[in-house]
Amino acid sequence: MPRTSRAAVGAVVVFAVFISVILSGRLHGSTLTVVDDFALLALATPAVVFSALAARSLWGRRRLAWLSMTIGLLGWTVGEAIWTFYEVHLHRPPFPSVADVAFLVMPVGACAALLLLPAEHTSQSRARLFLDGVIMAGSLFLVSWVTILHPLYQSYPSDQLGFVISLAYPLSDIIILTVAGVALVRSSGQHRLSLTLLTAGLACFALADSAFAYLSATGSYSSGSVIDIGWAAGLLFITVAASAAHDGKRKRRNSFALPGWASVWLPYTPLLVAGVVAAAQPVPDLKSRPVLIVASILVVTVLGRQFLAVKENRLLVATVADQALHDPLTGLANRALFSDRLSHAMHLHEREGMSLAVLAVDLNEFKLVNDHLGHLVGDDLLVGVAQRLRRCVRPGDTVARLGGDEFSILVEGGNDVAELVGNRVVEAFEEPFVLSDHELLMRPSVGLALAEPDEPHLTAEELMRRADAAMYSAKRSRARVVQVYHPDIAALDEAADRRLFGAFEPRFDAGGAAAIELLGKLRQAIDKSELTLVYQAKVDLRTAENVGAEALIRWPQPDGTVLAPEEFLPLVRRHGLMGQFTQLVIGKALDDALAWRRAGLDLPIAVNLFAPSVANIALPATITEALAERGLPPTALTVEITEELFLDSTERTRAVLQELRRNGIRIAIDDFGSGYSALSYLRDLPIDEVKLDRSFIAPILVDARAAAVVRAVVDLAHVLDLTVVVEGVEDVETAALVQELGCDVGQGFFYGVPVAPDELLEAAVRKLRAIGPTH
Ligand code: C2E
Ligand code: CA
Ligand code: CA
Repeated sequence: MPRTSRAAVGAVVVFAVFISVILSGRLHGSTLTVVDDFALLALATPAVVFSALAARSLWGRRRLAWLSMTIGLLGWTVGEAIWTFYEVHLHRPPFPSVADVAFLVMPVGACAALLLLPAEHTSQSRARLFLDGVIMAGSLFLVSWVTILHPLYQSYPSDQLGFVISLAYPLSDIIILTVAGVALVRSSGQHRLSLTLLTAGLACFALADSAFAYLSATGSYSSGSVIDIGWAAGLLFITVAASAAHDGKRKRRNSFALPGWASVWLPYTPLLVAGVVAAAQPVPDLKSRPVLIVASILVVTVLGRQFLAVKENRLLVATVADQALHDPLTGLANRALFSDRLSHAMHLHEREGMSLAVLAVDLNEFKLVNDHLGHLVGDDLLVGVAQRLRRCVRPGDTVARLGGDEFSILVEGGNDVAELVGNRVVEAFEEPFVLSDHELLMRPSVGLALAEPDEPHLTAEELMRRADAAMYSAKRSRARVVQVYHPDIAALDEAADRRLFGAFEPRFDAGGAAAIELLGKLRQAIDKSELTLVYQAKVDLRTAENVGAEALIRWPQPDGTVLAPEEFLPLVRRHGLMGQFTQLVIGKALDDALAWRRAGLDLPIAVNLFAPSVANIALPATITEALAERGLPPTALTVEITEELFLDSTERTRAVLQELRRNGIRIAIDDFGSGYSALSYLRDLPIDEVKLDRSFIAPILVDARAAAVVRAVVDLAHVLDLTVVVEGVEDVETAALVQELGCDVGQGFFYGVPVAPDELLEAAVRKLRAIGPTH
């Protein structure tokens, strides 16, 4: 049993013994006094310790609260020790005394603790909390007045100090109970248990204190009285409250927390008690001034609170109605509200010829974020996207989240306004999103469809469909601009679909089913190893020598056509086929390398890997094994990391890269300069080679600044001892310029298109023969 629960069990046992001793009435006189005093001291100790432990385990205001509680309890314990000393040595302790000063530290500490406990997010207003406080304080005062304060007042005709001290107990109890009541009313959810226990403990203390004040005033208190059970129970409750106060896992906070039932009944309970107690009093007592004043304050407050409650309820109903039309995550309009606004706008379009536009926005590769970084990061990303989209529109426009990563914007106005908004949307994604340790550069696909006066009978559904078609077209072409709908889009896309889905000839809206069929075929093709590799030569720019070949995947179809990687790699990534696929590529590539070697061609090959597979710890071992099986040296292989989303450089990725490199395998960063990679990768990642993307190289012939940037990157790479490879060299001019800029290796249609492995071998052998005799 852990030490803490042993202590708790001990406290419960002491409490049980204590009650039975007091209630049985077996002990009398000084024995009872001593047993009683020491039992209370024994119960106070765990209360202090647990409260201190709670303070240590918590943060911020909760920690301070339990610290105040500890100080209060410590004060009370000291008071009890002094009291015990008096009773053992003096038999009749003085009242008031130093002990009372120490005892009164308790209400101060408890009050501070309750005030320090942080307020939780609830729907109640401060005004209502205040009124609840007044109702509780007033009712408690009434109870206290008729039962204790009034008799006290009458029994201290001369002793001023005694009266003030006696008064201090019940009054401080009223304050504490009120503060505890308010804290309970506004608490919601996870911390309520500990707070309820604490309040119960303080209530026990309050009862005992008030009874003590009353009995002391009439001179009839002695230790061992029944009221001592109040303190003992109070200490026990506080001990349990303290041990329950450890914060669990911090939950995600609900945006809307329902107030607990306590907020409904708690303020009225003291009022009810006050009513019952007052009803039992003789009428003249009730006519005393304090009773009348407090009673009228209570009446006014209760009315005020009712009024407020009704007002807040109306507000609540309005909020609920509002939420029915908004997306809870992002706060954007939901589909219902969007449809409503759209159909309204379409009516105006039909009747008055108003122009309007719908933008369909979809995030590229959002699923990857969800799959690899978790749904919480995905949610945060959606919230960030919503914020940016909101900034792109004018006040009257509607931004909606229709589901998942699908957003729509309704723009009232013509072509110019709509394109302006669309461009702003594209620009809004230029900056990466910063989400809990990740920097994500997301790209949207944006489609735009216009309803213009020349088409008055256009329906809302058709407009939405057009915006979607334009968006899909943008996604297909990976366009970084707004794709405006035009009637040819559908035809173009259908042609693309036919190519992609072969004999199925899916209609646009049947894409889902066809994609599933295609996925089935892809699974089979991977299982049966039907995918093939073609190779593109890497050429040394100075010697024009073939220094390597990059393996590129192809999927031959039964009808003789061949699918290119971008047509099926998204399926591989999306449907968990990456591991199997990577195995297949590595296996085939190394088989080809071995065949070349046997035919006398010793050419290193490069394979492309998905970034997520590089985070797979098992990758280095798999590769080393594959090399060893074929008796190939590690220098025969380069891995290219195709990074289009986030090369997160997490510890795991870095460890895998380092391990690969230690094993002697070369590492290349692919597509550098395409907008996703950063200069810092060159510095931070263990790599050997950087491949400059075609889009990075394309403008250098016509743009001197672009050329200067390339030169700077090449120089930097050389300083870092990296080989620079240029991709996509298509003509002789570019080839000459990249050589002049200092690049080491070239790749592109100019040097050679990707070809089947035998063809590459034949070409290489022919080349060797051609230059052979001259050497
Ligand atoms: P990448 O790694 O950047 O490969 C270069 C792409 O550019 C190849 O397209 C190649 O055919 C094309 N290319 C080569 N020279 C030129 C040129 O002069 N001009 C132009 N316009 N293009 C040129 P491909 O084969 O369609 O591959 C596309 C992408 O698919 C690759 O880009 C790579 O990221 C990915 N990929 C290909 N095979 C694999 C694979 O086995 N595994 C993985 N994970 N990804 C692969
Ligand atoms: Ca590549
Ligand atoms: Ca590339």
